[in-house]
Amino acid sequence: MSDSGDIDLYEVLGISQEASPAEVKKAYHKAALSSHPDKVPESEREEAEIRFKAVSQAYEILYDDEKRHLYDTHGMAAFDPSSGAGGGAGPDLDDILAQMFGGGMGGMGGMPGMGGMGGPPKRPRKGKNEEQEYEVTLEELYKGKTTRFASTKNVICETCNGSGGKDKCKPHDCSICGGKGQKQTVHMGGGLLIPSVTTCGNCDGFGKVYKDKEKCKKCKGKRVVEKRKILELYVPRGAREGEKIVLAGEADQSPDQEPGDIIFEIVEKDHPVFRRAGADLQAELHITLAEALTGFNRVVLTHLDGRGISLNVKQPRGKVLRPGQVLKVPGEGMPIKRTDDRGDLFLTVDIEFPEDGWIRDETVVQGIRNVLPGPKPEIQANEVEEVDVEFDADIEEFGAHSDDPRGEGAWEDDDDEMPEGVQCQTQ
Ligand SMILES: [Zn+2]
Ligand SMILES: [Zn+2]
Repeated sequence: MSDSGDIDLYEVLGISQEASPAEVKKAYHKAALSSHPDKVPESEREEAEIRFKAVSQAYEILYDDEKRHLYDTHGMAAFDPSSGAGGGAGPDLDDILAQMFGGGMGGMGGMPGMGGMGGPPKRPRKGKNEEQEYEVTLEELYKGKTTRFASTKNVICETCNGSGGKDKCKPHDCSICGGKGQKQTVHMGGGLLIPSVTTCGNCDGFGKVYKDKEKCKKCKGKRVVEKRKILELYVPRGAREGEKIVLAGEADQSPDQEPGDIIFEIVEKDHPVFRRAGADLQAELHITLAEALTGFNRVVLTHLDGRGISLNVKQPRGKVLRPGQVLKVPGEGMPIKRTDDRGDLFLTVDIEFPEDGWIRDETVVQGIRNVLPGPKPEIQANEVEEVDVEFDADIEEFGAHSDDPRGEGAWEDDDDEMPEGVQCQTQ
């Protein structure tokens, strides 16, 4: 949608300029379904996504009388691209589909009514999706991962082609649901009787059953049989937490129904060394005090692909590293999907100071003192007092149990409870 000024919205939906709103809607449903990115091979997905957004945009404008009039008179120029009508942040595909086919109920009709359901049973157009979480390590997300796994699913019985009956046998209306495929039941909820509609278990929602001896021997009238299938799951390099990997049509099959998808949602396991944000990585750079002052040339960490990452900080005239200092290594972050680019690696300096009492020799102490820069000029005072010190105090103790908001502990509490302005007024 680089040049939305030239888009012919009627052409996008394949309708004439005289099309009624109902025809617009119908064309949109058809076009949206056929161009849904989940329905096409991965290689065409990006293109499908663009097509899908164009279709959604065309519908949004042409279905709305006022917007349609604007479009007819001024073209796409009537729409500010930043308003969301053109390009920009496109509508969420899943939202749109959920609206169109709410809960997978086959659709346009919505929930079947409580009474007077004539005609053939309405079964969902598409079978249920199977969703599950899939845990992956950061290493796997870095390198990409292909896994094969066995899945047992219902497939349409080949013996009876999904009819559930023997050749030339005719089913009769299910006696439990009277051929409707659904049962009206009531259940107790909050002290009230709540009516609801459930799929008839006797005919599995088909409304028709065969006599026992006329049932297909293979599937025993169930129309489907269980089958083990090896599936391949591909996690692209650089994939992120929450991303969904769709194995289209791999969920249970059922006659006259498009099978649902198996959907994996990526869950990224915590990593002991790296933190991730988008394509960037962060890790601690552990060095000794001597290294901080005199430099080093060594492998400082093992990257997610097993490479040793080596840093060369040379002295003399090199950099002195300080606690909390951040070094950035460009291009050593996570891979960015569909590109050869990578994010950056941020290293936070952590200096391991020597243990207490590590120097035993007064001449060593003097030597270090001579080498390092000396102290600032002495502070002048009329009276000087040497004081005792506790070496492991906690700053949280500062002002604690006083009601002074400037105390460390008190400050945090106030921050949580009320905005600063409110506090000022009460004082
Ligand atoms: Zn069968
Ligand atoms: Zn039934």
